[in-house]
Amino acid sequence: MSTKYKRGSFQLMKSMNRSTILNMIREEGPISRADIAKETKLTPPTVSNIVKELISTQFVVETTQGMSKGGRKPTLLEINAEQFFTIGVDVGTTQMKFVITNLFGEIREFTTLEIPPYPAHEDILSIMKQGIHHLIKTNKESFDKFLGIGVGMHGIVDPEEGRSLFAPAFQLNDIPIKEVLESEFDMIVKVENDARAMTLGEYWFGHGNDADNMLGVNVGNGIGAGLMVKGRLFHGEHNLAGEIGHITIDLSGPKCTCGNYGCLQTLAAGPAIAERAKKELKAGRASLIHDLVDGDFEKVDGCMVYEAATQQDAFSIELLNQTGRYLGIGLTNLIHTINPKRMIIGGGVSGAGRFLMDGIEETIQSRGLTDKAKETSIVLSKLGEHASAIGACVLVLEEFFIRQD
Ligand SMILES: [Zn+2]
Repeated sequence: MSTKYKRGSFQLMKSMNRSTILNMIREEGPISRADIAKETKLTPPTVSNIVKELISTQFVVETTQGMSKGGRKPTLLEINAEQFFTIGVDVGTTQMKFVITNLFGEIREFTTLEIPPYPAHEDILSIMKQGIHHLIKTNKESFDKFLGIGVGMHGIVDPEEGRSLFAPAFQLNDIPIKEVLESEFDMIVKVENDARAMTLGEYWFGHGNDADNMLGVNVGNGIGAGLMVKGRLFHGEHNLAGEIGHITIDLSGPKCTCGNYGCLQTLAAGPAIAERAKKELKAGRASLIHDLVDGDFEKVDGCMVYEAATQQDAFSIELLNQTGRYLGIGLTNLIHTINPKRMIIGGGVSGAGRFLMDGIEETIQSRGLTDKAKETSIVLSKLGEHASAIGACVLVLEEFFIRQD
């Protein structure tokens, strides 16, 4: 079924100079035409022509709010942030999150839909369509202000084809996300792994903006990482780069969904936290969690452990600290492999971040190879629970702001 929305005549700006200037205005605006010419080494007439075009497409507006150096206030340029919008979708293991953001990645609308257990291909695609239709209809902006749709999907994703190759939580292969959403909504659709989307979001609008070499680590029901190398996401030969949840941490550890034993995510992801808590509570450990679940240990989940920790429950604090130490071992391996400037921890478990950080930092301090390795900055996500959805929006913004070559 095709869309009933009416598209504006929107032109993709693939010219290298246009996207360079647009991105400079985004990063450094308000900025004058003269400063753009100086920094890009383009001639003033070239800059003038391109800026004229950017103003006519309404991506950029003139402002006089800049510093006055005596006399006439200079006319500066800035991004017309509320003129265009993108739609971001984060497909987790039990929920899909949907956001509409402006050109600065600021959320204007959001909604969340549940994913039923054991979904089929059609279920995933139909929930996706439903959420996007809902946001577009409830939003006051006209349809031609939407630049495109970005999707961050857990598991292995082929970003070129826009397909989910393998979604482990659903045990589904080969979901043609881009193809289906493009025909439904008639706009640009970009698909990426959720941890990579999160990393991209932090790089543009969060804590990664001064770090061209960095990692985003998504800790939720599983663990995945996005690797940013020289300002570009790194995918590896077969889109497997960043599957750090399956780094072996303990040869005799718990069995993982992948079939191996002692993978990082069997020790440090949300379900692993819940499992360890259940085991120890059953063995008689004292904890506030007893009251929270009214004696029914099957109700214990990761959030509960966090909740108890915030109420100073010693058992939960120690358990999260131990989780932080496991994560720290995984992150130390990554420091020694990638040597990033910064690592950003996001995802569901990062809500318990302050209880994880001590364990993480302590482990990196004791295991880092050199002083520089030990100094690697580790921070919690700035964009929080919507980081992957906002990052999915950036997948679309990249098409406009970053030179495509
Ligand atoms: Zn595994």
